[in-house]
Amino acid sequence: QRKTELLLAERARHVPRGVATAHPVVVERALGAEVWDVEGKRYLDFVGGIGVLNVGHNHPRVVEAVSRQLQKISHAAFQVAAYEPYIDLAARLNTLIGGDEDYKSIFLTTGAEAVENAIKVARGYTNRPGVIAFRGAFHGRTLLGVTLTGFSQPYKQNFGPFPTDIYHAAYPDLYRGITTEKALASLEEVFATAIAPDRVAAIIIEPVQGDGGFLPAPDDFLVALREITTRHGIVLICDEIQTGFGRTGDLFGFQRSGIKPDLVTVAKSLAGGLPLSGVVGRAAIMDAPTPGGLGGTYGGNALACAAALGVLDAFAQDDILRRGAAGGERLRAGLEALQRQHSDRIGEVRGRGSMLAIEIVTDAASKRHDADLAQVVIDKARDEGLLVIKCGVHRNVIRFLAPLVTTDAQIDEAVAAFGRAFAAA
Ligand code: PLP
Repeated sequence: QRKTELLLAERARHVPRGVATAHPVVVERALGAEVWDVEGKRYLDFVGGIGVLNVGHNHPRVVEAVSRQLQKISHAAFQVAAYEPYIDLAARLNTLIGGDEDYKSIFLTTGAEAVENAIKVARGYTNRPGVIAFRGAFHGRTLLGVTLTGFSQPYKQNFGPFPTDIYHAAYPDLYRGITTEKALASLEEVFATAIAPDRVAAIIIEPVQGDGGFLPAPDDFLVALREITTRHGIVLICDEIQTGFGRTGDLFGFQRSGIKPDLVTVAKSLAGGLPLSGVVGRAAIMDAPTPGGLGGTYGGNALACAAALGVLDAFAQDDILRRGAAGGERLRAGLEALQRQHSDRIGEVRGRGSMLAIEIVTDAASKRHDADLAQVVIDKARDEGLLVIKCGVHRNVIRFLAPLVTTDAQIDEAVAAFGRAFAAA
């Protein structure tokens, strides 16, 4: 029996089914955009650990920064004693996001924790209870995270009771005719019928919805949201956990619109593969909680902060933003060519920059979702040596989160593999 089958049988025995694994593959090592499994089979990794590997697996600057830090100290708990990588990382992110305004950062471990802390900070600052998120949003798997998340299955199941004072408005979705005007009207309706704006602490938005189907918010929607939140003294939180660090073609997804959020949540590609998240925001807001109100034993672990400094060095010195943007255009062109070839089954090619997804439909006329075909295509793509996954909500949407360092040859190889998978499905 192959090692893979043996390990997957052990996995089934020892790990609960609630932790789903998209591919029956056991990975062993990786470099850049490639991973190898325990059988030695090579795959192009267009999942990137779900958007964690924008600088690629084992980027030399990350490996070096972590190795150097490991020789010094791996963990201290920032609540006990401060250390340089945490302070340096905060300073660099504050400048990257805040520019010449005073911003401050705290570091946690997971994306969901960053979201939780952003809400705590916003409530602490405004002394208001309400939080508005958007339908289709995904903000993590903690109880507050799933409550903010704008769809139910499988995240909410029967996990309640849930935190209160959370409301949802429509996210602009031009594919379904939800224009900026309609989405703003939905927000006004929440204000009119559910919670008055002066009771709202925060509005949280993904600049491009991730699990919700790779839907970019139009720039004018973000601009209007900034204006409304400023007018009502509401903290505007951009959740950049999936969109951050070059994924959308800019360092952060909100930048294209020209707005500046009050708080930004970051995670995933922040530390190039190590678990690290953060909240970066206006100093006056971030300073609202009293000493001891924020933190966590592993929050801003020293190795993870060192890795993040390696990631920022890679962005500063290795031309990763430009390479990612060019790669995104190349991949989009390849996917659009496939769409023309299979226009009956491929609906939209959507997303922004290197955050791209295609929608699988039953036929060109009805455009009904075809999650079964999407699954077959994903499985056949794996046989062809390409790893991709679906979006969390729309099970007929296949997403591509290739590392931004993926070469042109690898992108062409992936498109060819995907084309063969689609033809065979
Ligand atoms: N917010 C967004 C936009 C995400 O995409 C995710 C993860 O996919 C999260 C929050 C939660 O992050 P984590 O899984 O690290 O808790």
